[in-house]
Amino acid sequence: MSKNAIYFDIDRCMGCYSCQLACKQENDLAPHNVEEAIEQRSPVWRRVIEIEQGEYGDETVDYVSLSCVHCADAPCVIACPTGALSKYQEDGRVLVDQGKCIGCRMCLQVCPFGIPQFDKNDLMQKCTLCLERMEEGKEEPACVSACPAKALQFGDANKLTIELQKKAASKLVLMTDKPYATL
Ligand code: SF4
Ligand code: SF4
Ligand code: SF4
Repeated sequence: MSKNAIYFDIDRCMGCYSCQLACKQENDLAPHNVEEAIEQRSPVWRRVIEIEQGEYGDETVDYVSLSCVHCADAPCVIACPTGALSKYQEDGRVLVDQGKCIGCRMCLQVCPFGIPQFDKNDLMQKCTLCLERMEEGKEEPACVSACPAKALQFGDANKLTIELQKKAASKLVLMTDKPYATL
């Protein structure tokens, strides 16, 4: 089974939050009014995190755009006691069937990235890699389309991994100033 994935390039990200907003818009996620905003229980399927390092005056700021990585051996799928979570046969993305969810939050307990989200109905929800959008014939998820810096890429996981390995090798050469053979 081929596996589709979104890859994030921290070197290209400028922290504009366009991906987070595009995801909320595409999936019609709350808040829709002031009350929902005040309750702060709005689900966020893609979240941009700010990471500050160093002493004041000499600090650096990095941004990480994080969402479900649709793990190969997904701990959430294994832990779910009702079978509400499953791997989509076409490309391995992890999907939730809210009709089977009982809101026990076992998936949240085992997810290494804290991805599962819950709103007022206490049923699990998260990124689907924009499955509905793909079924409409669009080629990539909303967050990927919205990123102005091309920091997010969507496609076959194996091909993207090779591209990232090439990039990492190039960076290593620049840092060490040693010649190398292209992969
Ligand atoms: S919710 Fe967490 S554990 Fe489950 S597939 Fe996504 S990243 Fe992996
Ligand atoms: S909250 Fe729902 S999806 Fe998560 S483990 Fe429990 S039943 Fe499964
Ligand atoms: S849209 Fe792209 S550049 Fe902007 S925060 Fe998201 S990943 Fe970073």
